[in-house]
This record gives sequence, structure tokens and C-alpha cells, in this order.
Amino acid sequence: MTNSIYSKGCAWINGEFMPVSEAAIPIADTGFTHSDLTYDVVSVWNGKFFRLEDHLNRFERGWKRLRMNPPLTRSAMQDIVFDCVAKSGLRESYVELIVTRGIPLDGERDIRKFANCFYAFAIPYVWIAKPEHQLNGINLVVANGAQRIPTTSIDPTVKNFQWGDLVQGLFEAYDRDAFTAVLLDADGNVTEGPGFNIFAYHEGRLITPPDGVLQGITRATVIDLADEIGIPCSIEPLSAAQLRTADEILLTSTAGGVMPVTVIDGQTIGDGDPGKVTMLLREMYWEAHERVQWTSQINYEQPALESIA
Ligand code: PLP
Repeated sequence: MTNSIYSKGCAWINGEFMPVSEAAIPIADTGFTHSDLTYDVVSVWNGKFFRLEDHLNRFERGWKRLRMNPPLTRSAMQDIVFDCVAKSGLRESYVELIVTRGIPLDGERDIRKFANCFYAFAIPYVWIAKPEHQLNGINLVVANGAQRIPTTSIDPTVKNFQWGDLVQGLFEAYDRDAFTAVLLDADGNVTEGPGFNIFAYHEGRLITPPDGVLQGITRATVIDLADEIGIPCSIEPLSAAQLRTADEILLTSTAGGVMPVTVIDGQTIGDGDPGKVTMLLREMYWEAHERVQWTSQINYEQPALESIA
């Protein structure tokens, strides 16, 4: 069913598949005007979704927390993303699902009455840092300017587009000749950065922050893989000072996997090469994309959608 008009990506908008270049959301959708939405991003690697069930669980928790009722069942949404990928023919893909509050009709202001909308698309796989960049390692700063928005204002466990603080952090990184930034919370603890969670490896154990962060699926995978090879991992507050003195630092994201940091705040970490533990976990992470229990094969020939009215 692969069709070349979808080779740059396939989207689902308002009940129709279309090439991603033609896909547009209605301008009045409050997902756009108020960022009132949640979304998820799942990868496809070698023709298989990676941990799709975990991504859908997080997505569902998110829309429920925002008190939304998507117009389709979870299983219909799942069929749609299978078909977006199948139509595109992409073997490595970045697949996004979005539920928005929707469009206010006739001046309606009561957000409980809006018809929530569902959108999805599959595009070629996106890397926060390209593989060749990862081999050199990432130059990271701890942002001094932007602080991560308090969790009482925006719940970071509901994946969201409210990136004002993260974008400020990115510009600070560019101004300081770095590649990206990690943000602190009001207590000076490390949270996360634009599109990634973070781990420090120090004195034989991994540490990753417990809250103020998205519960990343790649983060969960690293915790699982570390456990398999007997590396203890503590989910506990991580100060900026602890991060700066770590033996290794790694970033995790669906868009890039396990990514080594080799410079923090202008200081080289260790001998300046990506850390050994980081690189072992990175290798295991990519190998895990063939594990049956974590993958869902895409059928590029047969549509999944027959069941949707
Ligand atoms: N934190 C933020 C703010 C993100 O946007 C993302 C991914 O987009 C992550 C963490 C990493 O989450 P995951 O590993 O599920 O991709």
C-alpha cells in the first residue's frame, strides 16, 4: 500500500490521509491558539514500532488528565498510525499523535463543550543529535536564564507543546556556543531539556531526576537496560553540582535514543570521549529495537484501518 505521494510523510487530519506537506490544522483549533493539547511521539525502527503500548498508555493518561474525550477510540488511533507509516513506506519514522481541545463553535467559551480533535502523522525519523554528532558527544549547558516551569503550573508528565522555557534554554545554549541546555527547577535541581531526559553516571551508578520531567519512554528503557547489566539506577533529585562532577552524562529521547554528553558548561567530561557506560547502553538501546516484547511489526502491504467507519 506504499504510495510515493506519502514518501516524505503521511498525515491524518479530519478523517483523511494526506501527504504531510499538505497537512494543516484548522487555525481556530485551541491546540494551536492556546496550546491546549497533549501529544506523543513514538519511533518506528526497521519497520517496527518501539514500545508503542507504553507510548499509548502515556498518551491516554495525558488526555484523561486534561479532561479530553478524543473523537476516536485508542485502538482506532493505533490503526491510523500504523497506516500512516505503512502508506509512507518509511522503515525509520517519527510518528506523532495529538489530541487537542478543538474548535470553539459559535463563540462558545465553555471548554467542556468543545469537540476534541485527533491528528497524527509519520515523517522520516528525527534525530535531536545525528549519529555522527553523537559519536563526538554533545556540548551541554545548564541554563542560567530559563528555569523549568513549575509542575504546579504545567504538569510535565502530560506531554505538551508549552516549550517557552525550553526554547529560551536552547537560545542560551547557542549564545554560549553549546548545542543544547538542561533546565533547573526552583530548588536548583536538574529537570530535563528540549526533547530529552537526562542521566548522570557517577561512582558506578546512574541518577535521573524523579519529577519535574516527562516520564520518558527512552528513560524507562535505559532504566530497564541498566538493570539487566547490573548497573544501579537511582531516581532521585540531581543537583547541578552533581551533574557537573559526573563521570558520564547521557541524554535520552525517542528522537535520537541514548546520546552522550562530552562537555558541560564548557568543561570536558573525563577524557572528552563519550562515556563507556553510556555507549554500552546506547548499543543495547538500538539492539532492543529487535526485541519481540517491545516491538510491533508494521504490515506495509495491508491496511489496518478496515475496521474504522
Ligand atoms: N522530555 C521532554 C520535554 C520531551 O519533549 C521528550 C521527548 O520528546 C522527552 C523528555 C523524552 O521522552 P521520550 O523518551 O518518551 O521520547
